[in-house]
Amino acid sequence: MTKMKTVYDTITGPAATVLNIQRMSTEDGPGIRTTVFFKGCGLACSWCHNPESISLKPQVQWLENRCIGCRSCVAACPEEALAFEAAGVVIDRERCAGCGACADACPSTAMELLGKKWPLGDLVREVEKDRAYFEQSRGGITASGGDPTVQAPFVAAFLRECVARGLHTALDTCGYSSRQSLEMILPHADMVLFDLKIMDSAAHRRWTGAPNERILENILFIRDYMKNAVRPSSLWIRTPLIPGATATIENVTAIGSFIAEHLEETIERWELCSFNNLCRDKYRRLGIDWEFRDAPLLPRSSLDELADAARGQLADPSIVQWTGAPRVEKGAEGGPEKRHLRLVKGCTTC
Ligand code: SF4
Ligand code: SF4
Repeated sequence: MTKMKTVYDTITGPAATVLNIQRMSTEDGPGIRTTVFFKGCGLACSWCHNPESISLKPQVQWLENRCIGCRSCVAACPEEALAFEAAGVVIDRERCAGCGACADACPSTAMELLGKKWPLGDLVREVEKDRAYFEQSRGGITASGGDPTVQAPFVAAFLRECVARGLHTALDTCGYSSRQSLEMILPHADMVLFDLKIMDSAAHRRWTGAPNERILENILFIRDYMKNAVRPSSLWIRTPLIPGATATIENVTAIGSFIAEHLEETIERWELCSFNNLCRDKYRRLGIDWEFRDAPLLPRSSLDELADAARGQLADPSIVQWTGAPRVEKGAEGGPEKRHLRLVKGCTTC
């Protein structure tokens, strides 16, 4: 029987490499959102919560607890990138081409391919399934990552299709992108979530792999763009609070001063995202020795202090809020407030 053509089949365009589609997100913009995590990022933040999203290339990971030791993956690999040793499957990441043959061959889903190609029509169809939630909560779609601007032509086309269907759209970006990429995407994004991580450019390079001048230029470009455009109409700034890196009074004060001088009339919210280490296992599975592996969460007193420093810079301190889970001190009664437990799920601290 011939498959009936749907409206989605008429959407043509390239495919994008997508790491994950997260439904029911409450932290990536207003309302309930479906967040599409695109692979690829121009930065490589030392604390990145989604290390598997940094490379544009699909990657494989081995999940030890699912492996039955059959060695089918080793036999299937055309690049001879796999070996089965005493400790289990070892991946030579220099050789791996990210083809996914090992994952296809694995009978127990112990080899997983991170990053899947999504044609435009399929992705639009997938996110539109959540329309009822968006309508009830005034939510929508968020393009996140990685950094979605790395796949700008696709992301622009994807958000354009979402807007055409009456869905609210958000771009969540680290800001390290070309002007051309932003110009492609901004007309189709109702809001922008933009990271300002570190004001000192040398420190920015130390922790993220790149200086921050382009990022600062881009946020000012977005501010000016918003003055004359229908979209975006809303801008949130996000700052990850990473112990020993960004979570200093000096850094938060410097970002606050920049916001006060250049952005305060434009932004709706400045969110301070507390560090969490829930991604520890992701680094282990990718064979990366993560420098924040043993870093503790920040205590509530530090988060309050940093938020106060941020508020102290602004004419309207009410736009500052911190999110995430504080450290529970030994002997403290109860645990983190429910609000914070919920937030840690969504706050990607990247
Ligand atoms: S993804 Fe392809 S190249 Fe990489 S280990 Fe698996 S089979 Fe080999
Ligand atoms: S194919 Fe899967 S189950 Fe078999 S050795 Fe490889 S990872 Fe383990």
